Amino acid sequence: MNRSEDTDGVRPEAVPQEDGQGCHAGAEQMRAAAQAAGKGGVLARLAADYPKGPHDQPQSMCPAFGSLRVGLRMRRTATVLSGSACCVYGLTFTSHFYGARRSVGYVPFNSESLVTGKLFEDIREATYKLADPAQYDAIVLINLCVPTASGVPLQLLPKQINGVRVIGIDVPGFGVPTHAEAKDVLAGAMLHYARSEVMAGPVQAPRGWSGGGKPTVTLLGEMFPADPMIIGAMLEPMGLAAGTVVPTREWRELYSALDGAVVAAIHPFYTASVREFEAAGRPVVGSAPVGVDGTVGWLQAIGEAAGVAQDRIDAAANRIVPAIRGALAATPIKGRITMSGYEGSELIVARLLVESGADLRYVGTACPRTPWSEADREWLAARGVQVQYRASLEQDLAAMREFQPDLAIGTTPLVQAAKESRIPALYFTNLISARPLMGPAGAGSLAAVINSALGNRDRFLQMDEFFGASGVGTGDRAGVWEDTPKERPEFRANFRRQVIKLQRKLQSEQMV
Ligand code: SF4
Repeated sequence: MNRSEDTDGVRPEAVPQEDGQGCHAGAEQMRAAAQAAGKGGVLARLAADYPKGPHDQPQSMCPAFGSLRVGLRMRRTATVLSGSACCVYGLTFTSHFYGARRSVGYVPFNSESLVTGKLFEDIREATYKLADPAQYDAIVLINLCVPTASGVPLQLLPKQINGVRVIGIDVPGFGVPTHAEAKDVLAGAMLHYARSEVMAGPVQAPRGWSGGGKPTVTLLGEMFPADPMIIGAMLEPMGLAAGTVVPTREWRELYSALDGAVVAAIHPFYTASVREFEAAGRPVVGSAPVGVDGTVGWLQAIGEAAGVAQDRIDAAANRIVPAIRGALAATPIKGRITMSGYEGSELIVARLLVESGADLRYVGTACPRTPWSEADREWLAARGVQVQYRASLEQDLAAMREFQPDLAIGTTPLVQAAKESRIPALYFTNLISARPLMGPAGAGSLAAVINSALGNRDRFLQMDEFFGASGVGTGDRAGVWEDTPKERPEFRANFRRQVIKLQRKLQSEQMV
């Protein structure tokens, strides 16, 4: 997570320089600067696609990571960042931490090159140098916060150079709430480009295209590699095949994605991508084939959208449901759970937990409420599960404290707070979302990891007893000290008074 506020080298008129601006604070000023710099249309589009609320922005990593990751995972695609050095450092670090095997391009700037427009010329020059059709199908350029706020016009770059497509996008933290939605910003921009190519004439067939002549179901959302195969087996009795997964791994897969008979919005936050599919005349179906109810409902919706006869839809359901039922019964989950995450798959995981027998009380997601998760929300609400969209860390923590679960699943700070409270906890991103979820495989694999974590309660109690007896302390005094730090509440009270005084002074100056 990169929460640094580097506006180094940017003149005050380009981006305000007061402390505390960047990722969270100062977003209004960044937005105003972007507006004044001609990015009003981009900001309006982002605000419509990714509505905020109930609070401004969920606490998660720099949103631009989502776009960067989508670009880095594509073959023959160069991904270039335009932003402050500290943001680029953090994003590059995170990319390689998550195993990116490609370089992250960067066009640096200083105050002069930013405000004189030279940065845009530097980006254009770098793009021309990179545009080698022997190496690349596409070059993706991503404006981070400062260049977006300063109006660096990536959209004015040529649409292609030497046959290499050029895609410029703005992904500011003050306009895109989560890294999940930032994946959609790039996926949507690529689908838009690919759709214009399809409309202009014949395009390349995808490599090793496996539709086998059957109508396909395009799968929207990153998922475990086995899931599309499992979905393919479920679709087979309906005469359908699993199609391309979006975000794609190669440019030409965008064409097969657009060619799908139906689009399954397995992850429900791909608003810009859905717009492109709908513009291409493709019906979009929400939810996912998880658990028994989820699978039956999903197969029905997909079958209807693809014009499949009811007896074939029933045949598909009848073939897979006994196996799912068997897996759920063989690996039940017993225990009270709260869950939260920012990947967008939280509601479908929640359904699987409930069908596995878990006493799930709360599911929080950093993503917004959309039509494509509505069936999941209704199903969970009918079973007494509290669903919180755009959940903040505070809401996730409050749910954990209220429901006192046997297992808390969530983000890093939530897991830390749970463990401090002697509650077994699992990271949603690394341990839950990165495993098969669909069909019988999903039921079995989820139960294995949950049940082993549920069994850890005694270990937590023992550890707490051990460290408690060892006198290692808590909070600011945690650790082994020669001189244990002394609490200084009078210093903190003094600072608080001074800060309040300063705030009042600033407020009264603004009112004058
Ligand atoms: S690009 Fe914006 S949101 Fe991302 S780390 Fe930099 S200042 Fe924060």
